[in-house]
Amino acid sequence: MAHLGTLFIVSSPSGAGKSSLLSALLERYNVDRRMQISISHTTRPMRPGEADGVHYHFVDKAEFQAQIERGAFFEWAEVFGNYYGTSRETIERCLEQGIDVFLDIDWQGARQVRDQLGSARSIFILPPSLPILEQRLHGRGQDSAEVIRNRMDQAVAEMSHYNEYDYLIVNDDFETALGELIGIIRAERTRLPAQQLRHASLLDQLLAG
Ligand code: 5GP
Repeated sequence: MAHLGTLFIVSSPSGAGKSSLLSALLERYNVDRRMQISISHTTRPMRPGEADGVHYHFVDKAEFQAQIERGAFFEWAEVFGNYYGTSRETIERCLEQGIDVFLDIDWQGARQVRDQLGSARSIFILPPSLPILEQRLHGRGQDSAEVIRNRMDQAVAEMSHYNEYDYLIVNDDFETALGELIGIIRAERTRLPAQQLRHASLLDQLLAG
């Protein structure tokens, strides 16, 4: 199936600033409404400040299992002992409408997406150092010290997969990282296959002479 939109996989260890970068990307650059962040399903408990249907669709394990069996997930994985999955239907609908979809998913999900959709592009976001990553995790004030220690270990494990991705961004200076992110999206949008689909009738007219 020909897609007009591009599927962007964005992975990073927790605390590298991925969510802030994606939020700023949509706030500042989504004037033509051609970008959407996919809202995953998860079995993990809701954190303070989160809302159902906004940050995630929060479901219990039975509901998640039922959705796996229905084939409703484009990809799913167990991360930190909880289940996370991306709805197939939403993604396909958006891509067909020419909307670029951003998946905030881990390396396991990224592998599944690449296997199914060769045109997906993947971006890995790194923190500038381990001490800064730890500082950022404390800065959230949402998790206990034990959870943070655990997440530091998980962060190193997640970062070990950086070389499976197409693009690498180091989020030291936020504006620089955001500039690199929008640069990737603009470059992908102007690649030949995407432009041939989007401008098919213009190309016909121009080449008719
Ligand atoms: P958090 O619980 O902190 O929101 O997310 C934990 C991890 O799960 C992050 O690395 C995030 O990218 C990943 N994640 C969130 N949604 C999905 C999903 O739908 N699929 C997969 N594979 N990973 C996800």
